[in-house]
Amino acid sequence: MNGTIKGDTVLAKVTKLNKSYGFAKLIKILTPSPDRTNPICPKFDECGGCRIMHMTYKAQCEFKRQLVFDALKRIGGIETNIAFVGAKEPLRYRNKMVFPFSEKGEWGFYKGGSHEVVPLKDCPLGDILNAKILDTVQNFFKKEHLSCYNEKNHTGILRRVFTRVSADSGKVMVVISVNADNIKNSDKLICKLQSLSPRISSIILNINKKRTNLVLGDRNITLWGEDTISDSLLGFSYEISPHSFFQINHTQTELLYNKALEYARLDKSKTVFDLYCGIGTISLSAARLAKSVVGVEIVPQAIENAKENAKKNGIDNAQFYCAAAEDITPKLIENGIKPDTVILDPPRKGSDAKTLSAIVSAKPERIVYVSCNPATLARDVKFLTENSYSLREATAFDLFPQTSHVECCVLLCRT
Ligand code: SAH
Repeated sequence: MNGTIKGDTVLAKVTKLNKSYGFAKLIKILTPSPDRTNPICPKFDECGGCRIMHMTYKAQCEFKRQLVFDALKRIGGIETNIAFVGAKEPLRYRNKMVFPFSEKGEWGFYKGGSHEVVPLKDCPLGDILNAKILDTVQNFFKKEHLSCYNEKNHTGILRRVFTRVSADSGKVMVVISVNADNIKNSDKLICKLQSLSPRISSIILNINKKRTNLVLGDRNITLWGEDTISDSLLGFSYEISPHSFFQINHTQTELLYNKALEYARLDKSKTVFDLYCGIGTISLSAARLAKSVVGVEIVPQAIENAKENAKKNGIDNAQFYCAAAEDITPKLIENGIKPDTVILDPPRKGSDAKTLSAIVSAKPERIVYVSCNPATLARDVKFLTENSYSLREATAFDLFPQTSHVECCVLLCRT
């Protein structure tokens, strides 16, 4: 039921009843749960971003731990203890934020389930500098009589502003996405942004002239400063371009990766598969400890980044393949490459029978599954436990405080 939390006593109207669950609409909260707190963001009710900011942080962690426990039990058929690693900083943790502009020229986030912009003065999940950057871009467009984008008619220029902050250096990349090939008087905008803070290290214009919901178009023009921003993870440094995927919560990601490596128990005799490897952030950390690593990823740009990152960090025992995991994993195994450990970190839809069957056929001692979706994790764990593996340990991590997302890392060993 939307708007309620565990421990509330409410008056509600049942709208749909199924065999084992139902839906209801909240009419009135009679006694609020002791786990409730006043959301720090004044736009909590309207904005679609933070769904559980009205829970105390302790209750958020318990809610997510339970979510993982329930999924593994209900879908995976396994009852297991879930360790939970909460965040030290449940606010201002996001190193990347994308703010759409409304046609009226307001910046903010979309209302839940819609493309209506809820105007904001700040977002407490992101860097404190974001609001100043957004206001500066907004004022510039107003002064220059440059219009903002209208999604329905595909007219207007300014679509979104995207910022990325380096946890390493505190530097900030500003990407302005427009429905045009350039913007007039951009030197004025550069001056204004530069004078905001010495932390701003690059200003990039992204050309996005297509009728699409994709955040960025294909072409970037660096108006000022660097083309990329550098950041580090577990001692490796990465060059990140506007299009690259990089984990959003730096501190929690390091804890998650360390747990994955602990579960993998690597040494210099081990061959490792890192499936769904993105730009190779787990692969490089594993390569430092193992004999060799094979990274597999479907996005060509990400694989190029992974290869460059390996070179830049002096890693020569990692090989990267651009392919679908379900296609290449069986082939690698048929060709005699036998992993001792398989690490996999698939997208929300999880892995698939082809990939999992190939993994099982290679009989690795350990499988470390990193997941951003407890339901598909539980489905895949069920497959593996029915095929000679047993679940040994599970840890969930809060990478996205205030939202209902949760990340998990589980260890399966061959029985
Ligand atoms: N391990 C990385 C990325 C995890 S996100 C990190 O921690 O940064 C999941 C990745 O799986 C994405 O990079 C996505 O492009 C990739 N992916 C999606 N479907 C895939 C498939 N069928 N085969 C291989 N990679 C896939």
